Amino acid sequence: MNESVNAEQSGSTDIHHTAVLAEQTSQIYAAVNNAIIATIINASILVFVLWPVIDHNILQIWLAAIFLISLVRGISAYLYNKTGPHLQKASLWYRRFLIGSLLASLVWGASSIWLFPVNDLARQVFLAFVIGGMAAGAVTSLSYMKLPIYFYLCSALIPLLIRFIYSETELGITMAFMIALYLLMMVIAASRTHSTFKSNILLHIESVERERYIAQKVEQLQSVVTAAPLVLWSNDKNGVFTLSEGSALEKMGLKPGQIVGQSVFEFYADYPEVTAAARRVLSGESFMTESEVSGRFFESHYTPHINGQGEILGCIGVAVDITERKLAEADLLEAKEQAEDANKAKSEFLSRMSHELRTPMNAVLGFGQLLEVDAKLNEKQQKYVERILSAGNHLLVLINDVLDLEQIERGRIQLFMEAVDSGEALQECVDLVQSLAEKHQIKVENQVTLNSIPTVWADKIRLKQVLLNLISNGIKYNREGGQVIVSCEDTGEGMLRINICDTGPGIPEKNIADLFEPFSRLGAEKSGVEGTGIGLTICQHLAKLMDGEVGVETTLGEGSRFWAEFRQARYLQPEGLPRGQGV
Ligand code: ADP
Repeated sequence: MNESVNAEQSGSTDIHHTAVLAEQTSQIYAAVNNAIIATIINASILVFVLWPVIDHNILQIWLAAIFLISLVRGISAYLYNKTGPHLQKASLWYRRFLIGSLLASLVWGASSIWLFPVNDLARQVFLAFVIGGMAAGAVTSLSYMKLPIYFYLCSALIPLLIRFIYSETELGITMAFMIALYLLMMVIAASRTHSTFKSNILLHIESVERERYIAQKVEQLQSVVTAAPLVLWSNDKNGVFTLSEGSALEKMGLKPGQIVGQSVFEFYADYPEVTAAARRVLSGESFMTESEVSGRFFESHYTPHINGQGEILGCIGVAVDITERKLAEADLLEAKEQAEDANKAKSEFLSRMSHELRTPMNAVLGFGQLLEVDAKLNEKQQKYVERILSAGNHLLVLINDVLDLEQIERGRIQLFMEAVDSGEALQECVDLVQSLAEKHQIKVENQVTLNSIPTVWADKIRLKQVLLNLISNGIKYNREGGQVIVSCEDTGEGMLRINICDTGPGIPEKNIADLFEPFSRLGAEKSGVEGTGIGLTICQHLAKLMDGEVGVETTLGEGSRFWAEFRQARYLQPEGLPRGQGV
């Protein structure tokens, strides 16, 4: 009973204990029928032999008890076998078996007390023979569990032993001694049988568990292999397919296993790249290749199968259907080529148009300027000329900007990098924007004192172009009576940052991303401020070409701080660009 209770109580090893108990119970029940038959036959023979010397009532009651217990045990065994696997209820069935077995043991023990033929030595020996035989049989059928077998041996043999001692004859004492010895032998045999049975059961459970584990793994692998959108195959050393699985097979028009037994060289005779790959892998090479089979593209990984002695036994391979990817790549390539062509056409058009426009534009402006100084024009005509000149200048700026941008984008721009005195360049820019500043009533304050800031590595003209654009933007997009402050700072990373702060309206957060996009004016066109929307794009490109950067920080309603960073010339490595190098 303890065994079953323990099995139910134990913690982490519960499942294992339950499995062992279930197996023990099943073995014990398997032996029940034979034990019942042996019990009934032996009991009947015993009653028959003792019939002349023992009270018939006692014999009948004893035999009836044997029959009754055997019947109950038989029914119990029948029900056990009928209800199927009993893993969870093993303990309950074990308890049921135990009750039947203990009762049977007690009835056999009772035989030594009530069926002992006191004055008949021969029948005493017969009784001892029968009980001993039953005990020997019990060792094989009950030793799966310790409690039933030990209880059976003790309850069957100890009363007999006591009976012989009480017979007080010399032979009786000798018999008692023999029975005691026999009991001891049986207990030892039962103990050994029990350990053998138990280790067999453990081995059996382990092997069942292992088999189940292997079966599970095989099933998993099988489902992966059949469901994977791949083709998996193996060939022997002659190129004969030994495996061909995977759901992508149907894209080749094949069924799993269909080509097993066929030679790759014959089956794919029309696909020279496949047979060439098979030859390569069977010569010991691992590689990946792309091939077209049945109108679809596959990326195939070939690996030779080499044993410990270095012999090539065959090969294994995995192929992935990459048709969709290939088609997408082809589409992408086509789209890229089209975009490049379109871009090239656009650039060529812009370039040609700009050149074509510049010449007549210069003529318009030239004649406009001549008219401007012509004293014969009345006031109205003077105004018209001013309008012509202003619109013409704007158009020329636009044309120049477009041409500039186009040249930058096509990488046609020539830079002459040198150490540039940034303080001087900055002052020149501030001087140049003075008339614009006066026109807009903006005060431009240059906080940089000449010679106080380091030289930068840049193309002087392009550096000034960037700074001019940022400062004039600060003036254009400002409020009346506002100011623009120009300052410098060392970023500590070998760069010099030039800040252009204005007191304008600032830029809404959502517009910042478009700021450096070509032709984006962010609504400035509505306010009548002249511009092309290309200036910042050109600034950013130029700064980058000079290994610098431009950026902005802005607060709505307060103003913006545009900055341009350039590499300080003194931090350049000796292998840095030499003075005057074109880029
Ligand atoms: P443009 O000045 O010719 O329009 P830019 O590329 O220099 O072209 O500037 C693009 C847009 O960015 C401008 O139209 C304006 O809306 C905005 N912008 C540029 N600088 C400032 C500034 N300092 N403050 C506010 N808005 C600005």
